[in-house]
Amino acid sequence: MRYSTTFIPTLKEVPSEAQIPSHQLMIRAGMARSLASGVYSFLPLGYAVVKKVMQILREEMDAIGGQEFHLPALNPIEIWEQTGRVAEMDDVLFHIKNREGLVLAPTHEEIIAYHARQHIKSYKDLPQIWYQIQTKFRNEPRPRSGVLRGRQFVMKDSYTLDATPEGLDAGYEKHRLAYERIFTRCGLNFFSVGASSGAMGGSGSQEFMVESDHGEDTCALAEDNSYAANIEVATSWTPPIERVPGDDAIEKFATPAAKTINDLIEKHGIPEERCAKSVVYIAGGEPLLILMCGNDELNEEKLARALDTTQFRPAEENELLANTGAHGGSIGPIGLKNPKMRVIADLRLKGVNGLVSGANEDGQHYRNIDLERDATIESWHDLRVVREGERVGGPDGPRLRVVRAIEIGHIFKLGTKYSKALNAVFLDENGREHPIIMGSYGIGVERIVACFIEQNHDELGIRWNAALTPYDVQIVGMNTKKSETVRAACEELEAELQAAGLKVLYDDRPASPGVKFKDADLLGFPVQLVVGDKNLDNGQVEVKSRKTGERELTARENALEAVRKLLAAS
Ligand code: ATP
Ligand code: MG
Repeated sequence: MRYSTTFIPTLKEVPSEAQIPSHQLMIRAGMARSLASGVYSFLPLGYAVVKKVMQILREEMDAIGGQEFHLPALNPIEIWEQTGRVAEMDDVLFHIKNREGLVLAPTHEEIIAYHARQHIKSYKDLPQIWYQIQTKFRNEPRPRSGVLRGRQFVMKDSYTLDATPEGLDAGYEKHRLAYERIFTRCGLNFFSVGASSGAMGGSGSQEFMVESDHGEDTCALAEDNSYAANIEVATSWTPPIERVPGDDAIEKFATPAAKTINDLIEKHGIPEERCAKSVVYIAGGEPLLILMCGNDELNEEKLARALDTTQFRPAEENELLANTGAHGGSIGPIGLKNPKMRVIADLRLKGVNGLVSGANEDGQHYRNIDLERDATIESWHDLRVVREGERVGGPDGPRLRVVRAIEIGHIFKLGTKYSKALNAVFLDENGREHPIIMGSYGIGVERIVACFIEQNHDELGIRWNAALTPYDVQIVGMNTKKSETVRAACEELEAELQAAGLKVLYDDRPASPGVKFKDADLLGFPVQLVVGDKNLDNGQVEVKSRKTGERELTARENALEAVRKLLAAS
């Protein structure tokens, strides 16, 4: 292709609405344009990348026995009502105003179960793997970050239909491995974390994550990748806190200037791990005291699991005083004003003595506390947020990094929630009826593209790899306006590389070399082939790797080989 006649509207300026590198670069490199909030048009260069991703998805889904569907985006609302998801998805579900009874599908579990109900009759019809690459609609409350979170986006969604839990496990495992191959082939640096099954029901799910400073999720990742978990559930090893000798009784002491754990440490010389920090919540309408070790932060997701409810909130200052008798900073588990106040504690404090905690009297603390001896602890739980640098598994385990991440894929053992609701059943060998066991598996197609750019760019532009790049090589002709020799050589090279099966963009524009180099770096195809009079006089051309920035002179007749080598290394 010739640059002069190809539609690649590059921009020099960073568009003001784009906050993150992938969004900025997709706009600047002429890949996509915003049409409305969370709605993007893909231009030819961007769509070329999307198509490459879709090809990889198709190959890997076909390889595990997936059969490709194409289901409509317009769905009858009754089907969605039967599973309760009209209410559940609430404002995220797009409704059609001038055609009552239709919604825009945000995903397709319902429609898959609907068709399964029509045609799957017996265990002999199972298992099935059904997939599609299709547009989804979700009225995301805060679409931002470009195509990473769109209101309309393309998803590869697949569904396993099985007669037995073992069948589901096998289909899930196939998907897990296929997802690893897909993200590896795309060149993403990814990891997976076990996720809670959330609102969907069923058991077992994993999220595939890409490390990125602009991710919405926080994950804890072992430095050797042997452990990864969402921060909501992440655990770590912390050194056990030894008991102090003796069995001294509790003793009140004045701490007029100690409002925080750090004050106790600094002003009273108390080691951090001997401080039992009090956090007061109102849970289910009742006050709850939560004891944490030192400056450990309370993890609300862990608290939700410990209490088996999400109905809680931090207590307000007046509630602190009314229930404990003191203001924040002097609260503790002993002598609470409200004797019915529940107290739970983090596991790190279990069995520990010699602790210091507030005396529920402003400016006073107790020392020598042995929680099991001196307080009534209802239960002990892991309630803390893990911290960067802590170890996994034991004192010699790898250290944790706490990173931001973007979810690119999700695999999920659904179970029978949707098949039951839509009566998608099959008959077993004995003629008994059962709901089909389902799994659901999603990958965001545009999200792969954006995540790749997040991980592969520099200040000049994108750095494509061979798998996703829209063009393999860009021929940069120097002075093409004046030099007939350069033009002829470029055209010859273009023909030669194309004949060898490479996708070539020849920059034949009458622009300055500076402009051409800038655009070549911005577009970021793996190889640039620079053709100029001076080098041609010596029978040479220059190849440049976009990944390493290294340039190399090569004999004109070896250009193809040199390009191929750099492409393979991209
Ligand atoms: P998120 O937590 O990011 O909203 P989700 O849990 O809603 O994701 P799923 O319903 O599991 O996502 O969808 C499967 C995949 O579809 C996700 O892993 C992601 O790659 C992609 N995806 C989900 N929502 C969007 C969106 N609004 N824009 C682009 N891709 C999306
Ligand atoms: Mg979502």
